[in-house]
Amino acid sequence: MSEKQALAIDVGGTKILSGLISKKGIISDRRTFSTKNTLVDALVLQLEEIIDYYISSNEISGIGIAFAGTVDYKKGIVIEPPNFSFSNLKITEILGKKFKVPIFVENDANLATLGEKHHGAAKNSDEVVMVTLGTGIGGGIISVGKLIRGFNGSAAELGHMIIDPDSKVKCGCGAYGCFETKASGKALVRIALSKLENKPKSLILDYAQGKDEYITGPFITEAARNGDKIALQCFVHLSRWLGIGLTNIVNIFNPELIVLGGGLANAYDLFVPAATDFARKDAMSPNKESFKVVKAVLGDDAGLYGAAAMVFGRIE
Ligand SMILES: [Zn+2]
Repeated sequence: MSEKQALAIDVGGTKILSGLISKKGIISDRRTFSTKNTLVDALVLQLEEIIDYYISSNEISGIGIAFAGTVDYKKGIVIEPPNFSFSNLKITEILGKKFKVPIFVENDANLATLGEKHHGAAKNSDEVVMVTLGTGIGGGIISVGKLIRGFNGSAAELGHMIIDPDSKVKCGCGAYGCFETKASGKALVRIALSKLENKPKSLILDYAQGKDEYITGPFITEAARNGDKIALQCFVHLSRWLGIGLTNIVNIFNPELIVLGGGLANAYDLFVPAATDFARKDAMSPNKESFKVVKAVLGDDAGLYGAAAMVFGRIE
């Protein structure tokens, strides 16, 4: 008989990913769904339908769920999901009434980090910090081979370390000058808007049909790749702030590897080497000599791989 696979599900505010993953990390029957509704009953029903589909034709060893938001993984509770209209959902207990297999839930950024450790860019390292550069900035920390979760399970909020207290930009968390207001995809657009205030000639504006509200990270990236001076300056600016964030991470965690993921990592070569140089210069010895920065390799599937690792008992 073939080895049982894990059913991995990654629940986000706009989409839900799912797939079967073997112990060796082979993914199959990967599916993507739109998140139908942010209400609790609708979400539970949708998850039950997804699970029903898989277990009707497969024997699975367990279900691992990655969830965006604060999670108490020991109790199986989704505490504060920012994209949904509920809190304190006992998700493993509710699904466990119908499905008689082990069910686990954990924060999606933690599981993405675990996924990269077991099947991705950080395979041979026990000292890893993952930084996800998307619209915001997420993070996960592995030390001595284990996730660092903190007292409430909500550690590793790397995006909310304050690196520019004089900033006028208020973060979603309520503070000013958080890392994610300075070095995320949204920050890149903000930097571009300030440099384009007087409407200088730039490919960014050409791509955005001259409209500020149409400016996106991918447009800025494309303009930079085509040699646009302002776009290149935007990335220089971004790299300085990313460099400050990386310096703090290198000093505090002394990682062997920093794995950079998220949509903005598509522009990796335009700003990460420069940011790495800043950290290499500004952090303390011996931390600054030994760390490496690498690009995440699992993309959107990192959370699924981490969820499967949880099922296979590699949670630590
Ligand atoms: Zn913040």
